[in-house]
Amino acid sequence: MDGCLFCKIINGEISSEKVYEDGEMVALRDIAPQAPVHLLIIPKRHISGADGLRESDAALAGAILLTAKRLAEENSLENGWRVVTNVGEDGGQTVGHLHFHLLGGAKLGGFGGCVEGRG
Ligand code: 5GP
Ligand code: ZN
Repeated sequence: MDGCLFCKIINGEISSEKVYEDGEMVALRDIAPQAPVHLLIIPKRHISGADGLRESDAALAGAILLTAKRLAEENSLENGWRVVTNVGEDGGQTVGHLHFHLLGGAKLGGFGGCVEGRG
């Protein structure tokens, strides 16, 4: 999709540090890591976010989660890890192309679901 940052990364217009690629997704290092391991798993097809998923995307969504699991193993995250997808403005989504954060490599803080202003 024109003007989409992740579409540009996927088609190579913008460089990135890819750690995995197959026919339907890529995984790359987040430019501003929030944990020692912070990867983004991104479907190649432009989908606005988890709110843009359709029933027909069930296999894709499952494949992304299994990729997260495999990348966690490959990155030695045997102590634990987290997958997050932010949706929309209230969810803190800043790039409007579906992506899942894979975070690990240190003990992560409590669930980041606090309401702004309530700590
Ligand atoms: P969101 O806030 O939408 O959940 O996540 C977007 C993520 O994309 C952020 O963690 C941000 O650091 C990352 N990001 C933004 N621009 C770039 C970029 O040009 N390259 C890479 N690798 N990550 C980016
Ligand atoms: Zn896109």
